[in-house]
Amino acid sequence: MEIGSLPSMAKGEFKSGSSNNGLVVNGENNLSKVLHMSSGGGESIYAQNSSTQSSVFKSMQPTFHRLIQSLPVQNTGGLLRIADLGCASGMNTVSEVDFVVTTIKKLCSKRGLSVPQLQVFFNDLPCNDFNGLFMLLSSLKPDYMAAGVPGSFYQALFPDGTINICFSIMALHWLSQVPEGVGNEGSCVYNRGKVWINGGRAEVARAYAEQSQKDLREFFRWRGEEMASGGVMFICAMGRPNGVSAEQQVTSEVNTVDLTLKQLGTTLFQKELSRLRRETVSICHGISPMRMK
Ligand code: SAH
Repeated sequence: MEIGSLPSMAKGEFKSGSSNNGLVVNGENNLSKVLHMSSGGGESIYAQNSSTQSSVFKSMQPTFHRLIQSLPVQNTGGLLRIADLGCASGMNTVSEVDFVVTTIKKLCSKRGLSVPQLQVFFNDLPCNDFNGLFMLLSSLKPDYMAAGVPGSFYQALFPDGTINICFSIMALHWLSQVPEGVGNEGSCVYNRGKVWINGGRAEVARAYAEQSQKDLREFFRWRGEEMASGGVMFICAMGRPNGVSAEQQVTSEVNTVDLTLKQLGTTLFQKELSRLRRETVSICHGISPMRMK
């Protein structure tokens, strides 16, 4: 991960801001404006350092495959819109979308349906290497229509009721902002200049957890507006089993479904949907059986 254009930050020196928000990055507490994956060429770019994300996705493919089978393809009006939230760039991005497209095509052929037109929205933060992604796509000539959607997935991204398949792979652990007080020396949740909660105090971990819950609420609120009737959503995210403390998380085996995310996701999502009087949207998520190092 590249940290914006702030060399001192990249070296691990974090600045306490004078604002009550605490940690600031280049005068900016809103992380969506400063953080992005390393882009361009060379060994340090995201595309060359994302094999873990790729194997996590592969291990979750059977679940995603089953979910796509429940999509009412015949009712999408000949057009199917797919959104990849937190897409980054490089072969992971392309192969994750390819998996979805191939699964839809097989589904259509099995049911004797013609394949709808496919429109794929690639979403990431504005600083993402969209140029690299679209150059790659133009060389691969995929058989779907591609569009870039720069912006935070904690905000509105699409018109209401328009997305049939929404997925996010290994991206929802990014917060929208530094939790209040974490970068503030005077605060009880000051994290001594670190951005990682491993080894941190319980109050610090709680500040991160609260920020994460606020962010997830926003995420599901907006997706609740944007998903089409009968649409499916697949989330593959990092987490830790119940009972494993934040201090242990780096070495613990992460192999269970995260109940907090499940409960938060399904209840908020259903609430949004009933408010909008839409049909049920299937939601599925998982935590990969990977060993965190
Ligand atoms: N899905 C890809 C990339 C995972 S890396 C893969 O499987 O390899 C996480 C990506 O999420 C990064 O590119 C990061 O820029 C993006 N991201 C983080 N916070 C985001 C936000 N609030 N809105 C949109 N994208 C975000």
